[in-house]
Formats: sequence, structure tokens, C-alpha cells
Amino acid sequence: MLNIVLFGPPGAGKGTQSAKLIEKYNLVHLSTGDIFRANIKNETELGVLAKSFMDNGKLVPDEVTINMLAAELDNYKQPKGFIFDGFPRTSAQAEALDALLATKNTSITLMLALEVEEDELRKRLLLRGADSGRADDMNPEVIQKRIDEYNAKTLPVKEYYQSQLKFKGINGLGNIDDIFSFLCNEIGM
Ligand code: ADP
Repeated sequence: MLNIVLFGPPGAGKGTQSAKLIEKYNLVHLSTGDIFRANIKNETELGVLAKSFMDNGKLVPDEVTINMLAAELDNYKQPKGFIFDGFPRTSAQAEALDALLATKNTSITLMLALEVEEDELRKRLLLRGADSGRADDMNPEVIQKRIDEYNAKTLPVKEYYQSQLKFKGINGLGNIDDIFSFLCNEIGM
């Protein structure tokens, strides 16, 4: 299996590149942000809980997120592989993911990290908010909170994969198709 973690701060372009990667490599796309938003839309119990964190730019608690992802993984019987988008976002999530994949006799192949500086992220997120109406992209304070959460809790996940020699950083500035070719080069197939 080809299991990729697509990593990067909010607004780095994970969603855009995931869409291209799943098409090329036939992978299952698991975006925890998308799953939370679907739950919010359907007004599930999980959605109500997640919304209270997301609206404030905070991470949803690990236990909730990990259980949700575990249930989601079980929906796919013989996948070619997964692309994890927005997960893992904490070291505890990274450890849980390794354990979950081990029970399925597989593991993470590679972490691909899209690197974009903060000023550019703030600009992109505000633009996306104006376009999509996504609440957490429309408020500069919430955007800053998400960037701060990323720096405090999510950046350490990079070291987790670095120590496993699975980390590859890619410049996330520039043309979407160029960035996509850099990602494909790293995947090497
Ligand atoms: P972005 O990467 O642009 O912030 P996402 O859609 O990935 O957008 O995430 C939106 C929000 O959903 C996050 O700010 C957070 O509140 C919540 N969320 C998504 N994934 C996770 C996760 N793995 N752990 C905790 N919270 C998460």
C-alpha cells in the first residue's frame, strides 16, 4: 500500500494537492477537517462537539479525532492506500496512526510537507473564507489561533516522521501543477 501523510499549516494547499494525488495514485482521501465539517452539516453529536473547537481555531481533542479516524479506516476493505490530510496533527495522533495501520499490516510510506510562510497563509485563508464562506477562514483571530495551534502542537509531528526517515519537505509556493510534480517526484512512481 501507498500511505501518505500530507502535512502543512492551514492554507498550505493540502486539499488541492490531495485531490490531484488521489486521482493519480487511486488512493482513499481521509481529511479529518472534511469529516468534521460533514458531521457539523448533518448535526451529529460529533459535529456539535467538533464545532465548539473548530469555531475557536482549536484542535478537536485527540481521543475524539483518533476514534473517528479509526472508524473511518474500517470502512475501506482493500484500499490501494490512503492519503491522510490534516491528520495526524499531534504526536499522540501520529502514534495512534502507526498503531492502527500496524493492525492492518501496513504503515506510513512517506510524509510530504507543504512549506509556506505565515504571511502567505494568512492571505490565502482570508481569500478562501471570502470565496467559500467557511467560518474559520473568515475571522483573522481564528486564523491566527489555528496557525498558533499548528506551531505549538502540530509541528512536532514533523520530527516524529523525520526520526523514521519518512519526512520530505516541499516548497508550497508557486504553481499548483509544479508543486504536484514535486510531490510525485518524491513519491517516485
Ligand atoms: P486547515 O488545515 O485549513 O486548518 P482543516 O479542514 O484540515 O483545515 O481543519 C479545520 C479544523 O478542524 C481545525 O482547525 C481543527 O479544529 C479541526 N481538525 C481537523 N483535523 C484535526 C485533527 N487531526 N485533530 C484535531 N482537530 C482537527
